[in-house]
Amino acid sequence: MDDTLDAIIVGGGMVGAAVAAALGQAGMAVALVEGGRPPEPVADDAPFDLRISSLNLASQRLLEAVGAWGFIPEARRCPFRHIEASDETERRQVHFGAADLGLPDFGHFVENRVIRRALWQRLAELPGVATHCHAGPVAWLPGRHRTLLELDSGRLLAARLVVGADGAGSRVRALAGIATRDEDHGLRALIINVRTRLPQQDVSWQRFTPGGPQAMLPLPGHHASLVWYGSPEATAEREALDDEALRLAIERAFPERLGGLEAVLGRASFPIRGRHAERYVRPRLALVGDAAHVINPLAGQGLNLGLQDAAELSERVVAAFRAGQDPGGQGLLAGYARARRPQTLAMIAAMTAFHRVFTGAEPLRQAGAAGLAVADHLGPAKRQVMRRALGL
Ligand SMILES: Cc1cc2nc3c(=O)[nH]c(=O)nc-3n(C[C@H](O)[C@H](O)[C@H](O)COP(=O)(O)OP(=O)(O)OC[C@H]3O[C@@H](n4cnc5c(N)ncnc54)[C@H](O)[C@@H]3O)c2cc1C
Repeated sequence: MDDTLDAIIVGGGMVGAAVAAALGQAGMAVALVEGGRPPEPVADDAPFDLRISSLNLASQRLLEAVGAWGFIPEARRCPFRHIEASDETERRQVHFGAADLGLPDFGHFVENRVIRRALWQRLAELPGVATHCHAGPVAWLPGRHRTLLELDSGRLLAARLVVGADGAGSRVRALAGIATRDEDHGLRALIINVRTRLPQQDVSWQRFTPGGPQAMLPLPGHHASLVWYGSPEATAEREALDDEALRLAIERAFPERLGGLEAVLGRASFPIRGRHAERYVRPRLALVGDAAHVINPLAGQGLNLGLQDAAELSERVVAAFRAGQDPGGQGLLAGYARARRPQTLAMIAAMTAFHRVFTGAEPLRQAGAAGLAVADHLGPAKRQVMRRALGL
């Protein structure tokens, strides 16, 4: 008897569900173990949730390739065609236009719960994928030809590969004894959903102020998600304001181009922390998404990096499976880690530099602001930056 699965994926968030869909649609036998509940349907006219992600073109392509993009309703996604960053005076700014790259758009802003729901709808179509909800691993027992994973229900699963996609506090990572390097940026981000006076926009902008960056992410219709970074104290004060007082505070502090707000619809704050796993792989085990890396959300690239992990790993695993080779082999996993770690390190370095320049001492900030103006005139370099951010 052999009840060994091809893969067990722990964590049915956006990244884990994407890996499960990619492997499942290749005909592999997969178990998806999720600690929480399956995602609920989201009505087209439901209020917007606070957790929004910018999906770049590479992420969008992955969601298309695994058959999930079609489950994201048009009413719940907002394309963006321009990205702008400026200093606090807004005199110095850099602008990226999708048309400069011959693209219709840069990607879409979509609620996390809508992306996750779309992926799970796709999983329901794949007979090779079994989902186990309200379940988590308690022991990892690696073997030569397969790995055993014991769940908290007492159930034992066996597979040739275990994928840890269980987020920043990954249990899989802890069971495998993988340490992390953690960084606290000493800032919090207040996420605020608002109803705007202006109609739907196709530009996403960030403004860097001495207190921390401010950003506007457009959503469908007269909606937007604002991100207001600040010290933990300043953020706590803002978060405690009632809706009308917060609306007025935003109108005073945000640039005029926001165009006035009709209402504050919701808010929540998050600490800005970084975390990087010291290794992405162990025998028959790979980490993806936030289990492997949590980066500063400054440029909204965390999920995009995670989905690129999903694409890289599943491409290698599916190729091995199709060739009749071991989908959890050591060489395959080492290749995955070699491909992904440098990408994450480059993104962390870019975010750290960005953060230091724009929240650092005055001369550094001025240099950063001047850099924006210079960057705006560097055609080929600017296109390089854009291509990297798009995952192209
Ligand atoms: C304020 C903020 C704004 C952000 N904005 C953006 C953005 O604009 N663009 C972008 O690309 N990224 C953004 N990010 C980052 C993005 O949200 C994360 O990178 C992304 O959610 C990671 O997905 P994941 O599937 O790896 O992990 P998660 O979304 O954390 O999913 C992990 C899953 O594993 C499950 N789980 C956890 N523990 C266990 C266990 N022990 N057993 C079984 N299951 C378990 C959880 O229930 C969950 O379903 C932002 C982050 C923050 C904090």
